[in-house]
Amino acid sequence: MGRVVQEVVVPRCEGRAVEVRAGQVLRIVALDGPQVADSTFVALDNPREGYHAGQTVALNMLAGTGTMRRVTTLWSRPPYERPMLTVVDDPVGVHFAWNGGRCSAGVYSVRDGIESGHRTCQGNLEEAVRPWGVDPDLIPDVFNVFMRTDVEDEQRLVFRESPAAAGDYIDLRAEIDVLAAVSACPSETSASNGGDPKRLGLEVREGVSDGETPNKAD
Ligand SMILES: [Zn+2]
Repeated sequence: MGRVVQEVVVPRCEGRAVEVRAGQVLRIVALDGPQVADSTFVALDNPREGYHAGQTVALNMLAGTGTMRRVTTLWSRPPYERPMLTVVDDPVGVHFAWNGGRCSAGVYSVRDGIESGHRTCQGNLEEAVRPWGVDPDLIPDVFNVFMRTDVEDEQRLVFRESPAAAGDYIDLRAEIDVLAAVSACPSETSASNGGDPKRLGLEVREGVSDGETPNKAD
């Protein structure tokens, strides 16, 4: 079932990053219930090769391996356009995959009328990758894990409460060496985090064989 080589708790409203080597599995855990994990990825040897949400959803839909809420292969942006990670276990299966956005100064201003001071997923991700020397303007698109959204009448973007219960997780196997950054979304105003931002867990495992589901209980 694999061996845990690194375990990190992402404090509420903050971000953390971990290195995930090719073949290792990253587990993102909703430790305390409904909470969105704004996650992004860069190639460990070249931060310009970042995750691309639009290409990921398009390629998964073209291949029949995903939807706008769920994907199998996470791709880096063209011209690199390589599989970065593969979703190997996803019992929740509901994410905000198609958009690539994250909460930012602009989101808090337009949506909530907050002009400054609120923590953001963008800021959390910038802080998380800073120890690796990744420039803030290289933060790629975001895979919004556990986030449920709807578009009503093709014009209203509605954020609903995350379907993740305490202990729910997603497992992603790295296909190349990546730096994975995860923000415990600090928004208390959107329904996504159930009105109360919470912690997240990160686990890096190795020795997980193909077709084998890493089991939390082992
Ligand atoms: Zn956020």
